[in-house]
Amino acid sequence: MGVPRNQFDYISPDVKSNDPKVVAEYFKANFKAFALTEEGYMDLAKQWVSQRWNRTGQVHCNRYSSVECKLLIMGDAAHATSPSIGMGMNTALRDAQKFVELLDKYDDDLDMVLPQYSTDRVPEGNALTDLALNLYCFDTKVGMRTMLGTVVRSGLHYLFPSIVDADPNTLVGRQEYTLSDIYDKATDQGALTKHRAINQRIRHDFFQRETGMVKEEKAGGSVLKYAFAVAPVATCAVAMFVNYQ
Ligand SMILES: Cc1cc2nc3c(=O)[nH]c(=O)nc-3n(C[C@H](O)[C@H](O)[C@H](O)COP(=O)(O)OP(=O)(O)OC[C@H]3O[C@@H](n4cnc5c(N)ncnc54)[C@H](O)[C@@H]3O)c2cc1C
Repeated sequence: MGVPRNQFDYISPDVKSNDPKVVAEYFKANFKAFALTEEGYMDLAKQWVSQRWNRTGQVHCNRYSSVECKLLIMGDAAHATSPSIGMGMNTALRDAQKFVELLDKYDDDLDMVLPQYSTDRVPEGNALTDLALNLYCFDTKVGMRTMLGTVVRSGLHYLFPSIVDADPNTLVGRQEYTLSDIYDKATDQGALTKHRAINQRIRHDFFQRETGMVKEEKAGGSVLKYAFAVAPVATCAVAMFVNYQ
């Protein structure tokens, strides 16, 4: 169960309860994938309350190797991310495979292998972290619209493959597409850019509130802000009306 931190206050208090009975009732009512037995719900709930909520961090690097230090990084050390697209381990394994291929190609010459490894894998690792974060939108309404778009696009692609491009979501995990291919497509189709802008705004709003950089909005302030926003529009409307007369 993944919950963006900015949504944590809005999820049901039942799921945050320390009482296994409350958690078991919550899952009985809301877990729709398949039914469990009574003991199953209770077992799940006991395990649930005995664990803390984990947080997933992200790692972004613009190089994955150093010839001077004779070292390289791969897997989560290079590109840890949320498991939203389920490609972290796949990419880690691919890093290892590509490293071995380069060792073969350059006859174990690390001065050649290490820079090439970085050149080849940095786009993949950063495509992974960015897709995992921004293929989905923190704004649930926008996310729902994107999901509908995916369904429509996939249907049209099925009917007219040469006219309508596939949806990037449907390409994740397919061998013939690298993550940077998918990133490129998602950027081209606009979803990634749109979601990134919204997600960054939501993350920043949350951060500045959580750290106390901004204070809670005061009731009077918003009326004033509204007046400032409406004033130029009203002035233009009056000017146009006067000119028309
Ligand atoms: C909930 C969840 C679901 C996921 N689902 C998927 C999925 O469906 N598909 C997918 O491809 N990926 C998935 N992933 C991602 C995947 O698990 C990781 O990308 C992958 O495990 C990374 O492997 P790694 O070897 O780079 O790092 P890790 O698996 O983190 O291995 C690092 C190891 O180093 C050890 N270590 C750390 N510090 C030290 C130290 N100082 N000395 C010695 N040892 C140390 C750690 O204990 C650990 O065993 C998921 C991740 C999570 C959290």
